[in-house]
Amino acid sequence: MCAIEAGKRGRRVAVIEHADRLGKKILISGGGRCNFTNLYCTHENFISSNPHFSKSALARYTPADFIALVEKHHIPYHEKTLGQLFCDRSARDILNMLQEECRTAGVSVFVNSGIREVVRSEGYVVRSASDEFHAPVLVIATGGLSIPKIGATSFGYDVARQFGLKICEPRPGLVPLVLNSQDRSRYCDLAGVSTEVIASCGGTRFREKMLITHRGLSGPAILQISSYWKEPSSIQIDLALGAEVTAIFRDSKTPRTLAALRSELKKILPARLADRWLELNAPSSWANSSLSDFEQRLHAWTVNPAGTEGFEKAEVTAGGIDTDELSAKTMECKRVPGLYFIGEVVDVTGQLGGFNFQWAWASGFAAGRAL
Ligand SMILES: Cc1cc2nc3c(=O)[nH]c(=O)nc-3n(C[C@H](O)[C@H](O)[C@H](O)COP(=O)(O)OP(=O)(O)OC[C@H]3O[C@@H](n4cnc5c(N)ncnc54)[C@H](O)[C@@H]3O)c2cc1C
Repeated sequence: MCAIEAGKRGRRVAVIEHADRLGKKILISGGGRCNFTNLYCTHENFISSNPHFSKSALARYTPADFIALVEKHHIPYHEKTLGQLFCDRSARDILNMLQEECRTAGVSVFVNSGIREVVRSEGYVVRSASDEFHAPVLVIATGGLSIPKIGATSFGYDVARQFGLKICEPRPGLVPLVLNSQDRSRYCDLAGVSTEVIASCGGTRFREKMLITHRGLSGPAILQISSYWKEPSSIQIDLALGAEVTAIFRDSKTPRTLAALRSELKKILPARLADRWLELNAPSSWANSSLSDFEQRLHAWTVNPAGTEGFEKAEVTAGGIDTDELSAKTMECKRVPGLYFIGEVVDVTGQLGGFNFQWAWASGFAAGRAL
């Protein structure tokens, strides 16, 4: 996006990519259909140590701008849910579109170009094994650490360190959580069971599906909350949305039995999870206070994860180049003129739902307009 905008403005642009092709992450995104933006994108959908930083770029390149580009290329798309736009056919449509725009803008692309060295002299010199590039400005768009097997590297952070820039500790985001060993032995044989929950952590909450996995928890609710979780805090999970399962016992004619409670619980939870929950959390007595404890636990299952599934499984990298170092308008480093950082390598991390791409497009556009 940055190369396209700079190219359109008559700049000579070289895109240097160490993989054998561009945009591998686009191809695997959104289950192969690329959730390329979100209709309801605002700065509140992003995590950053400066929550206001993303406002300027997001305002100057909106979902409507990207949709206009998609429509110009006659790419069919649909809204899946909650404003999330996906390709009807394949993520390849988005990649082809960006490559075609690059060609039209006269951008040169160099693939299989691993960078060995970046030097600042008059401008910037970038050396790969076979080439040397000289330019007055250098834009780092090398993404985060997620999914190393398709080419993620620490390159962007290394360049930032080389120039003495501050970095907010990168950590896996939108990532499945691993349960502690006790909870793993209690729940993980239910792998595959899923239910709608509210997952919350430190005042942030998401109402979506949760999935039990072989090692812990996943599903959209957990991926979302994982970006806000840091050890040693805990995560609260409401397993009984809006329901009060012990309410039936207010009627004195209903016998206070496990069978009655089980049957209520199965109205809101998958049968296997309901059975397991009762096995592990049955009320200690049938007194009102015990029933109230039971109800409370069901609405606030406290999970202390042992960790996350790490960068191998994380959809995004939270943290990154400290936004204090960058101009919010152009993405240029305040202390290192001519050096820009855009996209996921910056400490701006989107929630699940097309926000990370919208940030990549918007921050790329902001820099492309400034070069
Ligand atoms: C499985 C998966 C699914 C996703 N689905 C979605 C989705 O549907 N919607 C959404 O909004 N977000 C999604 N994301 C997140 C989104 O893909 C990223 O946030 C986005 O691609 C970031 O764009 P970027 O340009 O900053 O970095 P990237 O897309 O990661 O691109 C960085 C590029 O730099 C190259 N590179 C890295 N190091 C070097 C180096 N040393 N030298 C030269 N080149 C280098 C890489 O090969 C890569 O091509 C998904 C992520 C994953 C992992």
